[in-house]
Amino acid sequence: MGFCLFNNVALAAQTARRQRGTTLIVDFDYHHGNGTQAWAERVIGDGSAPLGFFSTHAYPAYPGTGAFSESRYAKEGFVIDIPLPLDTGTGDFVGVWSTLLPPVAAALRPKTIVVSAGFDFLRNDPIAGLLVDVEAVKLLCGLIGQTAAQHNAAVALVLEGGYDLNNLRLSAEMLARSFTQDAGSTHVPAAHTPRDARLREMTTEVLRWLR
Ligand SMILES: [Zn+2]
Repeated sequence: MGFCLFNNVALAAQTARRQRGTTLIVDFDYHHGNGTQAWAERVIGDGSAPLGFFSTHAYPAYPGTGAFSESRYAKEGFVIDIPLPLDTGTGDFVGVWSTLLPPVAAALRPKTIVVSAGFDFLRNDPIAGLLVDVEAVKLLCGLIGQTAAQHNAAVALVLEGGYDLNNLRLSAEMLARSFTQDAGSTHVPAAHTPRDARLREMTTEVLRWLR
């Protein structure tokens, strides 16, 4: 829809899937990864390695897709969409990721994690922005790093959105630091249930699928 000529994350994920096996795409960009999801829906169950797409995004917001009802879960792959209300803050954002990423990854056991690392979900973004503070990036990195370590998975980070240059500078630095330090020095948030009733309901439902 005009934001990219090639879907770098889908290309990377398909290569990883063919060369290394099971692949998890983690997408925390403000906007729903509609192109990535459309591709994932087409290839899941095609006989190649399992593929998971796990995304949080503001909702309702451009491009208008990514409702929870678009989520599909099966052993050979899944799409999990967690639409975030526009007033979502740091606590609930980290709450969703800390509650869901570890068990979602444990269910899939990925060999590669490809991250759609868009930082337009942060407060003060000029074209987007939830009420999430930049400290959340450190926790998110810790969580992704720990999850990758648990499954001995490689991590590929692809920069996507992020239009506040200060947020982008701080986030990119945290990202680089988190993945160049040893895992022991990163910050991993304890799982905590989101306070927003809709987010609580969605996380509970996803945990039920994983059982
Ligand atoms: Zn975006």
